Amino acid sequence: MQKVSILGATGSIGKSTLDVLLKHPELFSVYALTANNNIEVLLQMARLCSPEYVVIADPTQFKQAKKLFSDGQLTCEVLAGHEALAQVASASEVDVVMAAIVGAAGLMSTLAAVEAGKKVLLANKESLVMSGDLFIQTANRYNAQILPIDSEHNAIFQCLPTEFKYGDLSSSGISKVLLTGSGGPFLTTPLNELHHVTPDQACAHPNWDMGRKISVDSATMMNKGLEFIEARWLFGLKASDIQIVLHPQSIIHSMVQYIDGSVLAQMGNPDMRTPIAHALAFPERIESGVLPLDFNQLANFTFTEPETERYPNLALAIQASSAGQYATTTINAANEVAVEAFLQGQISFMQIAQVNDECLQQTSSHSLKTIEAVLESDKSARRLSINIIEKLSHIAQRINT
Ligand code: NAD
Ligand code: MG
Repeated sequence: MQKVSILGATGSIGKSTLDVLLKHPELFSVYALTANNNIEVLLQMARLCSPEYVVIADPTQFKQAKKLFSDGQLTCEVLAGHEALAQVASASEVDVVMAAIVGAAGLMSTLAAVEAGKKVLLANKESLVMSGDLFIQTANRYNAQILPIDSEHNAIFQCLPTEFKYGDLSSSGISKVLLTGSGGPFLTTPLNELHHVTPDQACAHPNWDMGRKISVDSATMMNKGLEFIEARWLFGLKASDIQIVLHPQSIIHSMVQYIDGSVLAQMGNPDMRTPIAHALAFPERIESGVLPLDFNQLANFTFTEPETERYPNLALAIQASSAGQYATTTINAANEVAVEAFLQGQISFMQIAQVNDECLQQTSSHSLKTIEAVLESDKSARRLSINIIEKLSHIAQRINT
């Protein structure tokens, strides 16, 4: 029986994780569930799985959460704050940690799990984008097992040979990693209409049901950019080892091409319970609840190249990955601030990339050897992005009046 902590339990990945776990009560029990502030959903989830702990990251919700749980006669211990997140991620009783908090907020608890040498199911790609080298070094030092949850990276992992050595494509006869993406909801929207798209349109992904931040990232393809950086760190790839392929049907989740001409693809219905079940059971297989692919229903499989003009964020992220750690930390922070500003109606859809670009340009190269330096760099990129957004909003107001 393995004990699992789900960080970010109330989100899209968190809920899918609990769904898979509940199908296998003989294999897994839940040690902890965490949420930022959604205590009602946390309570409903706790009723289903009787965790030992629940954590509310936002400490202002602590009293209310304690009352709600005791009124609901749940016996689990209620904790609050970011230290409590790290505590349930690293507790000695825990075997598996699902890192599914969104954004930089997930960094410290994910790293706590890595430092405790856990089996870490990594959904929180932003933590790897921010701290790449440190993250991988820490995982090696503490013998943590990192299993990718992002569907593309999970697919690549499944298509690599078991004896694959980090960063060594040639010994395994691999010529390329093909990272697929759907292109999001604006794949065919006329370019001049992209300036006016709304947050709800951006969040309406054609194939995947996800949280709002990653949905906007999918629409701008920043998500693919972050995944490009994530793939480099997870598998030790050079930029030239990766090709991005648009596949709007989201049935192939990524591929590995070999020097003999073979291409291995991992396919399945677009449902995150497949990579979650794969990583939970690895190296075995368990049922996930995902419907099998029906090949009689798969009419078209198409593949194209992403257009640079439509997806400026993609090129920015790829450039950042070659510029170094400071650049990926900076673009990740700028993007989080810009996406939030777009969701709040402060900037337009295409201005997300403008904020990211200006923030990168205004940041000079600096080395990030410690986690404190990473956090400082993240903070200053956020300050800079807020200034850039304020200027853009002033300009928009002047134009409108
Ligand atoms: P979501 O917005 O649905 O859920 C986010 C979770 O994080 C919630 O439980 C929320 O309470 C918690 N959270 C938010 N801010 C927090 C904070 N400041 N402190 C502590 N907890 C906080 O997001 P999601 O779609 O489930 O995505 C989670 C992560 O998984 C992201 O990094 C995303 O990139 C990655 N991911 C998601 C999908 C998907 O299909 N949803 C696919 C691949 C990767
Ligand atoms: Mg993905």
